[in-house]
Amino acid sequence: MTARIIDGNALSAKLRGELAAKAAELTAQGTQPCLAVILVGGDPASAVYVRNKVAGCEKAGIKSLKFEYPQDAAPADVLGKISELNADPSVHGILVQLPLPKQFDEKAILEAISVEKDVDGFHAENVGRLSQGQEAFVPCTPNGVMEMLKSIDMPLRGAEAVVIGRSNIVGKPMAMLLTAAGATVTVCHSGTRDLNFHTRRADILVAAIGKPKFVTGDMVKPGAVVIDVGINRLPDGKLCGDVDFESAKDVAGAITPVPGGVGPMTITMLLANTVESATRAARKA
Ligand code: NDP
Repeated sequence: MTARIIDGNALSAKLRGELAAKAAELTAQGTQPCLAVILVGGDPASAVYVRNKVAGCEKAGIKSLKFEYPQDAAPADVLGKISELNADPSVHGILVQLPLPKQFDEKAILEAISVEKDVDGFHAENVGRLSQGQEAFVPCTPNGVMEMLKSIDMPLRGAEAVVIGRSNIVGKPMAMLLTAAGATVTVCHSGTRDLNFHTRRADILVAAIGKPKFVTGDMVKPGAVVIDVGINRLPDGKLCGDVDFESAKDVAGAITPVPGGVGPMTITMLLANTVESATRAARKA
């Protein structure tokens, strides 16, 4: 059996088309959605992510503002910019690209962003709202995964879901969303005693570990949906996921590739949150 490929590029293109139409409608009504991106330091991967986010905005008719700071930037300067952007009614989303240099208290920076403009969904209040099922900005990567599951009509109620990874930006919100959708969720991490026992009974297996090709075919239940969140660069410069695609695709029922899987969906959901924020602002105005 060879798994169905869940094509993140194709799904993104469809969703981004719909978002562009919404953005055009809002712009015609006088509210062009606008995302402000703050990049601190010269991390090459971060620079690529920011470039892709800005390009995604442009293509969808979303205005983007980019603010760059050097590696040794003073946190007070960045906090000052955040408070300026918080107060600017023409800005609907604020994103600070992570990771930040050592002199920054990441938590303090994320909490400084207005909850109404926290389109990454990392603010503690948004996380709390999400956990209580209230209206919130949902973190982009797990939200993108939920869209991918929806696109293949995966029944979630009663499904056994196993998430490997418990980070604030992927694993934990992923588990919350799957739980809210009715799945029975197990969260695995580096302290999990028998990982294979858990993964082999998963109808939905989400890998967000940060280790290349960690999940192999023998860890997958036949017919399972395998979602690979990982983005790892191999010594030869090629990208690969946390799942060993070659062995897993022969066992899984459906699988996401890397690249071209969850990655493009993350940016798509960022654009969706920005358009949503602009819609809320237009409603208020
Ligand atoms: P983190 O490093 O924050 O978290 C990794 C998680 O994996 C931790 O919870 C860790 O457990 C767990 N883990 C590590 N080793 C093992 C192991 N041997 N067995 C079981 N669990 C283990 O990573 P992120 O969540 O930020 O990212 C995960 C991956 O997803 C990375 O490759 C990253 O590049 C990618 N990513 C991709 C995005 C996209 O758009 N596609 C967006 C964000 C991330 P413990 O908590 O015990 O340490």
